Order: sequence, then C-alpha cells, then structure tokens
Amino acid sequence: MQEGATDEQVRHVVERIEQAGARAHPSRGEFVTVIGAIGDDREIVASLQLEGEPGVEKVVPILKPYKLVSSDFRGRDQVVEVAGRPIGGGHFALIAGPCAVESREQTFASARACKAAGANFLRGGAYKPRTSPYAFSGLGKAGLEILAEAREETGLPVVTELMDVRQLEDVLEVADMIQLGARNMQNFDLLREVGRTSTPVLLKRGMAATVEEWLLSAEYIAREGNSAIVLCERGIRTFETATRSTLDISAVPVAKQQSCLPVIVDPSHAAGKRDLILPMARAAVVAGADGLIVEVHPAPEHALCDGPQALHADTFSAWVADVQRCIDLMGKVLASGDAPVAVGA
Ligand code: PEP
Ligand code: MN
Repeated sequence: MQEGATDEQVRHVVERIEQAGARAHPSRGEFVTVIGAIGDDREIVASLQLEGEPGVEKVVPILKPYKLVSSDFRGRDQVVEVAGRPIGGGHFALIAGPCAVESREQTFASARACKAAGANFLRGGAYKPRTSPYAFSGLGKAGLEILAEAREETGLPVVTELMDVRQLEDVLEVADMIQLGARNMQNFDLLREVGRTSTPVLLKRGMAATVEEWLLSAEYIAREGNSAIVLCERGIRTFETATRSTLDISAVPVAKQQSCLPVIVDPSHAAGKRDLILPMARAAVVAGADGLIVEVHPAPEHALCDGPQALHADTFSAWVADVQRCIDLMGKVLASGDAPVAVGA
C-alpha cells in the first residue's frame, strides 16, 4: 500500500482479496502496510485487478514457493521479539543452557553460569528426542517446572523443545520460545499447531533438509498466523564423520537472503565435540548469524544427554568473551535484558 494509506483502503483491499477466494495477510510496518494474498495464482490473477485501486502502491507476484517468510514479502532482517528481547536486526541472541533438564541443581548451576557469562536466553529440554528408546528422554512436566524456577531466579527467558501436540498446553505455560527440533522440522501438524499460538518459535533445520524445505516449514507456521519465527542451522548429514553433523555455514547467508527471518546457529549439535564449538561459533557470527544456541553443563562428564559437546559451566564466561569479539566485529549487540538496548542496525 502507499505510504499513508488509510485503514479504510487497507480494509477494502483485504475484502477484495478474500472475495477472490484468497487469504489476506496484512502486515503493518511503521510507514507502510504490505498485504499478502495467498491462494491459487491463476484464480487470484484472473479476478483481482488491484492496480489503480485507492491506496495501492504496487502489486508484486512472489514466485518463491514460500511467501509469508520470503524476503520479497517483508524484506530482510526482520526482528523477532521474545519476552521483550529483540532477535535480529543487529540484536544478537545467545541462548545457552543444558541439553536436557536433569535436576534442579544441574539446571540452576547451568543457568547461573549462563547468566553470569552474559547469555540472554536459557535453553533446556524437558522433552528430549533421543535416537535410542533406552536413553534418558527428559523429565517432562517436572522439567518444565524447573525451567520456570530458573527463569524466575535468573530473569532469562526460556527456550524449550516441543515434540508433540499433546505437550503443547504444558509447554506453552512455561516456554517463552518453543523449540521445534531437527527431527520434527517436517512434522506438519505440529508446525500448524504451533502456528496457531502466539509464542515465538525456534525452528531447527532438519538434518537432511534443503534450505528451501526448511523455509517451507517456516511457511507452515506463518500461514497459521504466527510469524515470530527464528531459524536455526544445526548441521546436516554428509559423508563426513569427523563431526556429528556438518555445519552448513552457507545456510546462514542463504536463508537470510531468501527469507525475512533471523537465523541463528547451533554449533554444539553440529560439532558434537566440545573443542570444535568455539571456532564454529566464531565462523557463524562472522557469517552473519543473529545468534547462537549452545549447550552448557556444570559437569559434562556426568551429563545424561550430549555430554561430549557440552561446554563447561565454569569456563563459559571466557568462551563468551571470545565470541563477543566476533559479535563486536559484526557491529551487533548482545544485550542482557537488564541493560538498555540501543542498537543501530
Ligand atoms: C537439542 O537442541 O538438544 C536438539 C535435540 O537439537 P536438534 O533437534 O538440532 O538435534
Ligand atoms: Mn542436545
């Protein structure tokens, strides 16, 4: 729409789109409103003649298979707010914490170290997808309660995984951001269900998914109304066995070019080995990532899940200080919720 288009003009265009049998997705920016029309291309093109309508600036066909999350629709570098903290557009997210919530003591020890080191979000799984059915699969609801207490003490917003719609109600009570894991990237009903909530989503890339498939999964969420989505590259399966997965650094600039969404990187699951996480984190930041998610444990040798890749809680501050130099180099700001946020994009 033209700058200064009236509410009435926006409403009129929305009505026209809906009459044509398409769905209208208005997105109001500070100066301009963009209205997405999603439906069958031929049907819309045949019956919609919006050019020249009052208030309409231009009509742009979006040819990518994903629409609402494409950079053609909303532009690049959108900011996603999670519990009042911005991610993207120069605001860097450092999400840290244990792989799994194992106990109150373990979670609090990790959360305190993460907070002290300058992380601005707390991660921790109460529901864990495990390759072996005999492995520790999380504390469930009791784990969520521990996360809520850790947030209470540290002030860090909680990022936690949702594996199944049956857990949604409990997870929504605690999560500031819902993590959808690599194994569920194409669980389409789960994507739709999360899309009907207003809780921000961290969408991990499936380990055998192309960037396009990943963005189409984000589109499933956005299509239901929830566009507060942050993408997370976590490594893909290749022939290489030296690392747990192969971190696809190129996915960061590619996803940021193709979509409007912030992109963060998980070097922990990509590397699978503690001593590789720092160089991979540095590379991710310099490649333009809007954040990192890393695993931190007070005693990795006793961890019930992903111990070999967990950073030691007691040396995490030094780890963050190193990565901070890369964040500074990129002109981004890693702000704790306590400090006033002032960022020039
Ligand atoms: C995790 O974050 O602990 C996890 C299971 O990650 P992914 O889904 O990327 O394997
Ligand atoms: Mn893990």
